[in-house]
Amino acid sequence: MNILIIGSGGRESALAYKISQSPKLSQLFIAPGNAGTTQYGHNVPLKVTDFDGIAAFALEHGVDMIIVGPEEPLVKGIHDYFLAREDLKNIPVIGPQQHGAQLEGSKDFSKQFMARHHIPTAASRSFDRSTLADGLTYLEYQSLPIVLKADGLAAGKGVLICETLEDAKAELTAMLADAKFGEASSTVVIEEFLTGIELSVFVLTDGETYKVLPSAKDYKRIGEGDTGLNTGGMGSISPVPFADEAFLSKVEERVIKPTIDGLKKDGIPYKGFIFIGLMNTAGDPYVIEYNVRLGDPETESVLPRIESDLLDLFSGVAEGNLAERSFSVSPKTAVTVMMVSGGYPGNYESGKVITNIENVKESIVFHAGTTVDEAGQVVTAGGRVIAVTTLQDDLFTALQQATADAGRIFYEGKYFRTDIGFDII
Ligand code: AMP
Repeated sequence: MNILIIGSGGRESALAYKISQSPKLSQLFIAPGNAGTTQYGHNVPLKVTDFDGIAAFALEHGVDMIIVGPEEPLVKGIHDYFLAREDLKNIPVIGPQQHGAQLEGSKDFSKQFMARHHIPTAASRSFDRSTLADGLTYLEYQSLPIVLKADGLAAGKGVLICETLEDAKAELTAMLADAKFGEASSTVVIEEFLTGIELSVFVLTDGETYKVLPSAKDYKRIGEGDTGLNTGGMGSISPVPFADEAFLSKVEERVIKPTIDGLKKDGIPYKGFIFIGLMNTAGDPYVIEYNVRLGDPETESVLPRIESDLLDLFSGVAEGNLAERSFSVSPKTAVTVMMVSGGYPGNYESGKVITNIENVKESIVFHAGTTVDEAGQVVTAGGRVIAVTTLQDDLFTALQQATADAGRIFYEGKYFRTDIGFDII
């Protein structure tokens, strides 16, 4: 099969790594990819939302399947675009159509979906510009802290946790009346604050049945001890020790099954990943959010643990017979350490030469924000630069190995956390 992966981050590097191992693979393309994805396939200089360009490339190169990494092309309808064109509709796309992608593209849609299908989640109400006054009154009756969520995609910044009523009122006004997050905050979900410990569960579905992928936990904050500013993710672990069998069976019964059944009942076709962000509150799972794609950096820990042929699983998704495909997971523990540019998540410089990757022997090096400069050198090209993933027998050994290997790679200003997973060892 000829496969085209859409995206350019560490997540897409992990997808390319895993798919390149498939005996079913002929040619692998990554659009646009990064400096590291060329070890698994050919990079194609196309933007992830250039549907015309992607379609023309797919037809010209006999692409048999498209795997979409990030949410933006899904929310903008890449799958629908392929289905709508006679010459493209036989090329399966892994990732939901626009309707299903609303689970991530609209928090209000996802809250209504959960309410309709009795899926446990924080109590909430939505307000738009015309009901701002009602929203301000509603806030007065809520306990603190309180969570405000821009309805639409806001580059991961649209969730605010407010500690005081004054702050909550000011932020609600800024979001609704002053368009703090543009159109994304023309509706705001006000949500009860949940306490507990967060984790993510990933599901792959053909719309009828599903496979539950390994659980993962990511570390969002820039500083050791999970302090400081939020980032796209500084590392991840899989499996999550506190997500034991009893907890995961609650997740399957109370969240996963009703989600897949709910999609069917609502007549929403869905072929792809569902990433469920959960809060474990006193042993019970509550959904914080749905994402309609894999998470980054969770993917870098999750995919290396999957022993089965990922391309075979994707064929099962495309053909609607996922239940017949074999699926097994390594019992080992994965730790991913994300190496970032100095200054991230604030301002940072790019174009720093990256060396000594070849010194890493016991971990997988997934490129994220990297490119090749005019002189042919691999250089930094983003906030999150390289994800270092290792698989070991236990969490402590994995943390030590991934941290040591991140230390072996050099570029000016490099930074990474040395405590990924340490809080739950
Ligand atoms: P989201 O974009 O919905 O995942 O929210 C971003 C982050 O905000 C989550 O990963 C949580 O850490 C936090 N968060 C979101 N909703 C809640 C909630 N209801 N209670 C507590 N924390 C939350």
